[in-house]
Amino acid sequence: MSARLIDGTAVAERLRQEAARRVAAFTTLTGLAPGLATVLVGDNPASEVYVRRKRRAASEAGFIDFHHHLSASSSPGDVAAVLDDLAQDERVSGILLQLPLPAGFDRHGLVDHIPVAKDVDGLTTGSQGLLARGRPGLRPCTAAGVIDLLDETGINLEGAAAVIVGRSELVGHPAAELLLARNATVTIAHSRTRDLAEVTARADVLIAAAGIPRLITAAHIKPGAAVIDVGIHRTDTGLVGDVRFEEVAEVAGWVTPVPGGVGPMTIARLLANTIQAAEAAHARTVQPDAPSSGQ
Ligand code: NAP
Repeated sequence: MSARLIDGTAVAERLRQEAARRVAAFTTLTGLAPGLATVLVGDNPASEVYVRRKRRAASEAGFIDFHHHLSASSSPGDVAAVLDDLAQDERVSGILLQLPLPAGFDRHGLVDHIPVAKDVDGLTTGSQGLLARGRPGLRPCTAAGVIDLLDETGINLEGAAAVIVGRSELVGHPAAELLLARNATVTIAHSRTRDLAEVTARADVLIAAAGIPRLITAAHIKPGAAVIDVGIHRTDTGLVGDVRFEEVAEVAGWVTPVPGGVGPMTIARLLANTIQAAEAAHARTVQPDAPSSGQ
């Protein structure tokens, strides 16, 4: 292996410690710890695991835990009512609606019950609009974590050719926006892209977020490129990503492992977003004209 490894576990741990320090300072300042509310609908086992991990990490960082688990038989109106209550609750700094929702639920309509100021997943129409306009706001956690990992390499993103494989609202699209904000030259590839390898082989920075196990081979990589693997897939032989790690590591300059790459960053960024939301809300009580979720 010639590529250098980007250690997401170590970067995430630093972010978590930083969030915990800010939570402690906030609690000392205001007399009340900030709160993270998680809302889970139905009984998707993977979602239950993810929510449990997020709640545990938040509690460890000093946040108050507000959790609502609604059964799969609850109505969209029930979910909306819970979100509306949390929106009004001053003890709650951030709200996360765990996705995917059971079939038949309007994800966009429900997510938009979360006020932009409490949208710690960065998925509301308002948050995505702020991102598209390059204005301060809460950014989608995984995409923000991808940028943190790139920063870890010391690569200058300005003018770099960045290719993102995947255009989802959750990962690919916001990652592209964040790279554009850093003045990278951004290309987004997707399932209709012709000759993917020809496109990705031009990338100084390659983000693999297609959700296809081991899609990206050595032939997709420009020698020396930084490769961030967002994919997570459980197989009989363990977790794998969208990248064929062993062969890509022979060509790339930097690469993230799976597990231990992007995965831990998502939760770390959630904590960072939640304390950011709490600090911004507090700033508005002191100075009512302060931005709703500024950095
Ligand atoms: P998604 O919503 O399924 O989106 C996948 C994207 O990849 C789509 O834009 C799709 O194109 C594109 N795509 C599919 N097949 C392709 C191909 N053969 N060539 C090029 N592009 C292709 O998935 P997601 O939510 O963005 O997640 C992507 C992966 O990241 C998944 O493995 C997921 O488990 C993982 N993930 C990890 C974390 C983490 O914390 N590490 C967080 C979130 C997601 P179209 O738009 O044309 O369909």
